[in-house]
Amino acid sequence: MDKLSNLEFDAAHIWHPYTSVAHPPVLHEVVSASGVKLRLCDGREIIDGMSSWWSTIHGYNHPRLNAAAHEQIDYMSHVMFGGLTHDPAISLSRKLIDITDESFQYVFLADSGSISVEVALKMAVQYWFAQGRAEKNRFLTFRSGYHGDTFGAMSVCDPVNGMHTMFESILPQHIFAPAPDCQHDKDWQDTYIAEFRELVEQRHFEMAGVIVEPLVQGAGGMRMYCAEYLRQIKQLCDQYDLLLIFDEIATGFGRTGSLFAYEQTGIVPDILCLGKALTGGYMTLAATLCNQKVSDGIAADGQGVLMHGPTFMANPLACRIAAESIDLLLESDWKQSVAAIEKQLQMELQPYSASLIVKQVRVKGAIGVVELNHPLDDMMEWLPEFIVEQGVWIRPFRTMIYIMPPYIISSNDLHQLCEAIGKIVAEIESRSEKS
Ligand SMILES: *Cc1c(COP(=O)(O)O)cnc(C)c1O
Repeated sequence: MDKLSNLEFDAAHIWHPYTSVAHPPVLHEVVSASGVKLRLCDGREIIDGMSSWWSTIHGYNHPRLNAAAHEQIDYMSHVMFGGLTHDPAISLSRKLIDITDESFQYVFLADSGSISVEVALKMAVQYWFAQGRAEKNRFLTFRSGYHGDTFGAMSVCDPVNGMHTMFESILPQHIFAPAPDCQHDKDWQDTYIAEFRELVEQRHFEMAGVIVEPLVQGAGGMRMYCAEYLRQIKQLCDQYDLLLIFDEIATGFGRTGSLFAYEQTGIVPDILCLGKALTGGYMTLAATLCNQKVSDGIAADGQGVLMHGPTFMANPLACRIAAESIDLLLESDWKQSVAAIEKQLQMELQPYSASLIVKQVRVKGAIGVVELNHPLDDMMEWLPEFIVEQGVWIRPFRTMIYIMPPYIISSNDLHQLCEAIGKIVAEIESRSEKS
């Protein structure tokens, strides 16, 4: 039998994210990556607009992160966390407690973003269970949210377009408020939160808490909304005694212009989920932080045992790299970089809103979104290759062409990304005219 080429083997045997193996898509094989560039096996180099899903904030193949990884692997790449501990976990947790609000006192180091959400939900449910209020086990969340792919996380994702419709029958039933509107605090009107408030008033007795992505909803629709909404939610949570969970897996570590999105709101949640950029995109690791109220509450049963503990909990290699990545971020002028990216995205993407096929252009921090009037699904035959031909890596989904580049991107490379988006929009427009 002839040996299959790499791409043939992949198409024949390997699942990719949200992908069919019956109709495998065209893939590009990456052989190496450095800075903001991915090198494909045919020798082409393309500029990464995705930061490998929000994670590679310092770019690829960073000498300091590489050195941290090498150093740690010579001590140990892994050791179990039950009954043992290690400096990488302790150093990282010190840093996380240091750089977040002083109310955060406890860190759970999980193995992926989805798992950190599971842990956050568990913390909230256990909190109420320990108070003898086991009936408080539902969560209120927004539509158009995204919190991960495991069952608990899925159950708080958007129930309709959350790609998870087929699991509805076996998912726990949570409570959904309309997706948040109101882009700017100055436009705030009480009507924006009317339905959310009504749900709290009617059903708080069965709610453990509220879980939302602050300021930017990521994979659920790349939607942006104002801080006032979150302040209002906090008030309701205080008034009706609900725990507040912020999922900052996408927004954390500077992406929206502040180190954490909650800093722009003036409020602090009880539980905070971090992931994605935590290791600078080197490995999978996530963290769930909580305040004293939550840990005391869980301990109210006399035990305080949080019922979670994955095999690779607090993996030393990942923790060591994460600690280095945080140092690297804090030593850099990330705030200035993100502000410069934001300004350039605004200048260079905004003009595309003149196109008839563009619904809206949105920018927040180092996130730029061009939303079209129609889904791109039927363009996936030609669009991915067309994008790579522009020398860039952008992965549109549904109606969205969006980028969130590494913070180290040069203005030239960012210009090329924005220009490529212009060409993509123009190409889609001309093809839709023809059909
Ligand atoms: C990506 C993401 C998750 C899930 O993280 P994984 O590491 O993919 O499991 C959860 N919440 C938000 C907001 C995310 O962007």
